Amino acid sequence: MTVMKKFFDFLAEGKIMGFKCKKCGVYIFPPYPICQKCSSRELDWTEFSGEGKLIIFASSAIPTPMEFQDYAPYAYGLVKFKEGPTFMTMITGIDVSNPTKIREALDRLPMDVKAEIKKFAGLDILTFKVK
Ligand SMILES: [Zn+2]
Repeated sequence: MTVMKKFFDFLAEGKIMGFKCKKCGVYIFPPYPICQKCSSRELDWTEFSGEGKLIIFASSAIPTPMEFQDYAPYAYGLVKFKEGPTFMTMITGIDVSNPTKIREALDRLPMDVKAEIKKFAGLDILTFKVK
């Protein structure tokens, strides 16, 4: 079974799984089969807490992908997991309907966020919600 297939199977079970390097202890997300720090292939699956901080975000660019249209305009941004890795995805709980609201939210960065697994077109997608 491929790593990504396994990753999505875990997501469907509500688990956010990445790797932890056996050699250097670094966390890897999304799970690549090789450590980006020390190139080791000895990695263990590990469950991530889902806790993190939103570092930066932007309002969705036009055109919006079909499956996200119900959410437009939405925010997407870069989240830093408590465990270390960063991940770019959709962010909920931010009002991006006008420039003033966006500016107010940008002033509040970094914001605490919590992982939320959403279904889009039958696929489980990892998103984050502002606390
Ligand atoms: Zn390593």
